[in-house]
Amino acid sequence: MNIQAIRQDFPILNRQINGKPLIYFDNAATSQKPYSVIDAITNYYQYHNGNIHRAIHTLSSEATELFEKSREKISKFINAKSPNEIIFTRGTTEAINLVAYSLGCDTLGSDDEVLISLMEHHSNIVPWEIIAKCRGFTVKYGHVNKDGTLDYQDFMSKITKKTKICCLSHVSNVTGVINDVKCIAKVAHDNGALMLIDGAQSVPHMKVDVQDLNVDFLAFSGHKMLGPTGVGVLYGKKEALQKMTPFQGGGEMIKDVSFSADHCVVSWNELPWKFEAGTPDIAGVIGLGAAIDYLVALGMDNVFNHEKDLTQYATECLKKCRDITLYGPTDLSQKCGILPFCLRGFSSHETAALFNEYGIALRSGYHCAQPLHQILNLPSSARASFYIYNTKAEIDRFIEIIEELNS
Ligand code: PLP
Repeated sequence: MNIQAIRQDFPILNRQINGKPLIYFDNAATSQKPYSVIDAITNYYQYHNGNIHRAIHTLSSEATELFEKSREKISKFINAKSPNEIIFTRGTTEAINLVAYSLGCDTLGSDDEVLISLMEHHSNIVPWEIIAKCRGFTVKYGHVNKDGTLDYQDFMSKITKKTKICCLSHVSNVTGVINDVKCIAKVAHDNGALMLIDGAQSVPHMKVDVQDLNVDFLAFSGHKMLGPTGVGVLYGKKEALQKMTPFQGGGEMIKDVSFSADHCVVSWNELPWKFEAGTPDIAGVIGLGAAIDYLVALGMDNVFNHEKDLTQYATECLKKCRDITLYGPTDLSQKCGILPFCLRGFSSHETAALFNEYGIALRSGYHCAQPLHQILNLPSSARASFYIYNTKAEIDRFIEIIEELNS
């Protein structure tokens, strides 16, 4: 990939922060946006704005066509069998809530179990805990090793005939650990359970093929993969989605609402619209389609290899620095471009504030993954995370500052 050419596509990278060129290392939180995405959104509002699916006038037809084209692009991008398996949501959080509410309220009861790992983002823990309180099912947790990798033996041993769904992040947003979700999905299916993966940190950074992984659900967010905020995706296998009751009711998700005698009879729309109540973020979905075009043109293997190269380089440099502790596995073949660390003498927020003085954007805190921080025995951590426009020169500058602080 020609990184210098890529950088020209991102207007925000020309910004100065505190008088220094911006170095953006907070990509796991949200990515920056190229002109093509910004232009797709502007173009929609300037020339095609109309509500989708509901009118026969030209603007509505154009908007519908652009919207549904994005669904097709996303379907191809993750190798779904059909665009009907792609449901637009507000993001990963809403996608997981959709499954938790639809599946949980419909089919899970006091004899059932949901299995999650302790490395999850809160958005893959809290919805399950909320529904478990209403429905009386048990939420079980698979352990995580001290280096942040999944304890596979423990996780597999907790999959039983009572398990109705296993929920696991594909890539941890704290350590960058890549989980072998394909292998877990096989064991889940052998026991009659469904498999949901949180792809918030995998889909933007690597090739994800839902048919190859054979997962039942995949959730991800547009804003972490060059797209706008407010739009995300739930992929669901047709067979699983067909059995589920809609999470939200309203316009667009019904086929028919009629009154017979004294009661209302409602029938659901076809997939995927059955799960898309109300007017969606039309511009956001079109922007996400442009983001997919950008990533496809780069090639997801190139994206992955570039980030892997940066992670390897940064890890080797940081290992030589005094007063810095790196977390996560030492085997880099198991991880993506996310580096959690602590700087001796500074809290994570102090570390991020200090780097901000130098124009470097880092994340600090527990990154919505408190259980994992408990396991790592950390109140919080600082986190650098890379994407397609980051360079080794930026990492050199980052290291230079750490060395200045150490001297
Ligand atoms: N899951 C993981 C692994 C994440 O990293 C994040 C966001 O950082 C989420 C879920 C939630 O994503 P969103 O806030 O876009 O819904």
